[in-house]
Amino acid sequence: MSFLTVKGIHHTYFTRYFAVTALEDINLDIQEGEFISFLGPSGCGKTTLLSIIAGLIAPAAGTILLEGKPLDRKGLSIGYMLQQDYLFPWKTIEQNITIGLKLLKKKEETEIGKALGLLEQVGLAGVENQFPRQLSGGMRQRAALARTLAVNPKLLLLDEPFSALDYQTKLKLEDLVSETLKSYGKTAVLVTHDIGEAIAMSDRIYLLSPKPGKIHKWFKVPALLQSLCPFEARNHPLYSDLFQIIWKELENLEGGNEHRSIT
Ligand code: ADP
Ligand code: MG
Repeated sequence: MSFLTVKGIHHTYFTRYFAVTALEDINLDIQEGEFISFLGPSGCGKTTLLSIIAGLIAPAAGTILLEGKPLDRKGLSIGYMLQQDYLFPWKTIEQNITIGLKLLKKKEETEIGKALGLLEQVGLAGVENQFPRQLSGGMRQRAALARTLAVNPKLLLLDEPFSALDYQTKLKLEDLVSETLKSYGKTAVLVTHDIGEAIAMSDRIYLLSPKPGKIHKWFKVPALLQSLCPFEARNHPLYSDLFQIIWKELENLEGGNEHRSIT
């Protein structure tokens, strides 16, 4: 049985004057512990699909099953990490990362201790009593990662979490996120428009085509690349090979427009 099943998903947004079909017939299966990317140009429905998987949007048609069961909206079995960190500015870093535990009424010392251990693991020991504004963008995203993991979600959804960061910080965070999720054996879905990021971080990549959003193709990342950390993967010859293949596929999708937005 697959861990996450996405079956026959179709979604149309209705506004007052028009309807936009954002997703059409999306089917995929993800196994426990896999790291998957949804890759595609802006507007192809990646965020919509992630929001449907998270249970934040009800699809027009189709079903999402987690471990064979429909989503439990009350539990925090899914962790969401976004481009913006959404830390509460008036709360300290410690208060921010333990907020999910408080919502779940898990206030025991051990749970709080684990959350603080996570802060240490993401390299933020010593900033517990600081406020988000005192931290850099990269540090805030690391705090957001610790907060997401603190409630021990079964599935992590990451929507372009590195896209607002400078390149060097982004590369470092890719390694940190990958290493941390692997150490906990977490299943994760990353949304990105960055081919390199998808290859460096994932086990498999789903390439989405736009208007309406469909799965165009999927790619398995070579096992050797999967075993390397993202930074090392980016420097391996197999990385460039897959990059070329996916690049060409995207060129075809977009009719060979050289000025497209994919990086
Ligand atoms: P991506 O994340 O790949 O950039 P989105 O899922 O945000 O794509 O959007 C897919 C399509 O749905 C786009 O055409 C977008 O304009 C449209 N869309 C997204 N959200 C809404 C909304 N709330 N109302 C109407 N249309 C929307
Ligand atoms: Mg998006």
